Order: sequence, then C-alpha cells, then structure tokens
Amino acid sequence: MSSQYDEFLPPQRLLMGAGPSNVHPRVLQAMTASLLGHLDPVFLQVMDDVRSMLREVFKTDNSATLPVSGTGTAGMEAACVNILEPGDIFIVATNGYFGERLAEIASRTGAHVVTVEHAVGEPVTAGAIKEELAKHASVKGVGVVHAETSTGVLTPIAEIAEVVHDAGALLVVDAVTSLGGVQLEVDAWDIDVCYSGTQKCVGAPPGLAPITFGDRAIEVMTNRKTKVQSFYLDMTALRDYWQQRVYHHTAPISMIYSLREALRIVLEEGLENRWRRHANNAAALIAGIEAMGLRVVANPEFRLPSLTAVYSPGGIPEGNVRKHLLDNFNIEVSGGLATMPALAGKIWRIGLMGHNSTASNVLYFLSALETALAANEYEVAAGAGVSAAQRKLRELGS
Ligand SMILES: *Cc1c(COP(=O)(O)O)cnc(C)c1O
Repeated sequence: MSSQYDEFLPPQRLLMGAGPSNVHPRVLQAMTASLLGHLDPVFLQVMDDVRSMLREVFKTDNSATLPVSGTGTAGMEAACVNILEPGDIFIVATNGYFGERLAEIASRTGAHVVTVEHAVGEPVTAGAIKEELAKHASVKGVGVVHAETSTGVLTPIAEIAEVVHDAGALLVVDAVTSLGGVQLEVDAWDIDVCYSGTQKCVGAPPGLAPITFGDRAIEVMTNRKTKVQSFYLDMTALRDYWQQRVYHHTAPISMIYSLREALRIVLEEGLENRWRRHANNAAALIAGIEAMGLRVVANPEFRLPSLTAVYSPGGIPEGNVRKHLLDNFNIEVSGGLATMPALAGKIWRIGLMGHNSTASNVLYFLSALETALAANEYEVAAGAGVSAAQRKLRELGS
C-alpha cells in the first residue's frame, strides 16, 4: 500500500527565534518511550518527579505546582481564570505584546482590567504600579511579564511584589521566557502566581505550561463566589488529579516524559550555571551585534538574556534577512509582532534559549548575519561581529 503522503522528515533548523527552541537529544528520546496509562503506578511516580523538579526550578515550596496541559498561553489562561471573578479589578503593567495578551485574557473573565503602559524597550516599574494601585479601593491582582519576548526586556520583580502586597493584591508573573534561563525566585521574590512554558528556556517542546500558586492565591481560589469558568484549567481539580489521582483529564503522557528529562538536564547543569550561561552568551551576541553597527531595542540595563531584539539597519526589510538566514543557513529568527507597529517589519528577535544558548551558536549566527546583510547590500567590516563576540566570550571566561 502506498500513500500520497510521504514520510515527514523535517529539515534540521537552528531555532533562534522567539520559540520554540531546539531541545537536547535526550529530551526527544524521552518522548519516544512506551506509553503508560495515566494512572499507572509507574507514571504516577513520573508525575511526582516532575512536580518536585518544577518546585526546584521555580525556586518555591508551593505544593500547588504542576504543568498545565497546553502551551504558555494555557498558563496565562490558568492564572487568570482561577484567581479572577466578574467585577474584580486586575491591573496589568504592560511593556509589550505579552502584557497586552495577559490583559486581554484577564478581561475575558469578566474582571475589570486596567493597563499601565510602559514604553517599548523599557521595563515595568514599581512606581507606576503603585500610582495605579492608589486609585482603587480594592485590587484583586497585578499582572507583570518578567521577560517580555516581544522586545527583549527583563523587568525586576522583587520591588514590584512589595508595592502589590502593600495594597493587598496578588502578584501574577509571566515567566514564559525566563524559567530555566534567567534568574527567577518565586518564593524569595514573593510571587503569588507564576506560569511558564516548556518551549523556551526549559528545553522541552511546546505543549506544557508549568504553573505555581502560593498560599495567598490558594486562599483567593478557596474563597471564590463563582465556579472557575474553565473546566479544563480549574486548578482545584488539577491539584486533585496531580496529588490525589482523581481523574480530571488524561495527562499528555509523552509530553510529561519530555518535561521530566528537560528538568533533569536543568538540574544537572544547576540553575546558577544555567543563568550564567544565558547571560554570557547574550552578552557575546550583543557585543557582536553592536560591533556590526546594529542597534538593540532594549534599554541596556534591562536586557533579557534569552531574547535580543535588534533593529534591521539601513531600511532593509527585516524579512529579507530572515529569509536569507533560513534559506542559506537553516537558521530561524523571529520578526517583530504584527500588533506592534513600532517594531513590526523593523526588528529581528534572536533567541538564545535553553539548549540553544551556546557560544558556537552565537558565532555561527553572527557570521551568517554578516553574509545575509551583505546579500542585502549592507556591508559591515568583515568579521567585526564574530571577533567582538569572541573577545567578549574570552573576557567572560566562557
Ligand atoms: C511565548 C510566550 C507566551 C505564550 O506561550 P505559547 O507557548 O506561545 O502559548 C506567553 N508569554 C510570553 C512572555 C511568551 O514569550
């Protein structure tokens, strides 16, 4: 029997965009293991391992820590639907696309959502949040994106937590592009709800959204007047499933295997080593980018190690360069998001996430970028980017 459809053999791409990123071969291997029933005692141990490793990676003792089935966006939805009820006031401090998405998702719960907008390339500030909090008698929560993937900006969280808690509100943090790659301390920074995704720095394919709820958030959920509108993302039912094995939905078995292996790799390397690796490779990338005369979007003091947004120079349509990188070097980078007119068509977003944050990827990318720019009639001094990155790597001892 033959089929009109050939076996699918994808090209080997280097995924240096905004996600997904390439994963360690051990993670792909783990996904090919035999399926188990989702209540098989052996699988229950896998679930316990994942919960316990997730607590280590989130740096939290929260027992309500588990991977929601679905990508990072499912984590955003889970955070919102579980803590918000119609009429609640929820403040979202935005500095890019993902903050806006959080506001949109929150508004669909019937909550009254107020956004506090920050300029592109700048972090969210505690001062602006404090000012907004002062305008309301009672605020249920404040949402902030730790690592804004649309602009490559990292927002400091600890001081924001303080102003949020002074006002008696919950702090919800989007850590989709920071967990596993950039310092994140759920307990030490006093974050109430924190969600992430597996496809960015954690080092697994897209498909799961790790999430954690602290005591204050649990109390808010316990005292809800209305049922959580989403059956699938109801955290109380998910906890009963992950802790008491009460059937809720069938866990995506192979994805959980992949996450278990990815978390093992994160812990083998050690969180601090991993944060340093991401920071050093981003510093080398930026040294190379700037030596080529290109401009980074983010304020230099708040640059995100896992993603760097760079303006395309000399009026070159950014898409031409991306196409050259993909066609000639098998490198994928992302463009600016269409909903951000200030950046759409003007920037590349270059990811160095998880398994992909390596010195060799930085040097390969800079060399390919030089070629792609030359093909678009933008000449840079030969090898300037690569040698600046090499110098930076030497300086950092990595
Ligand atoms: C990627 C991303 C998301 C959404 O994750 P998906 O896996 O695409 O659903 C949410 N927030 C931030 C900051 C992200 O970078």
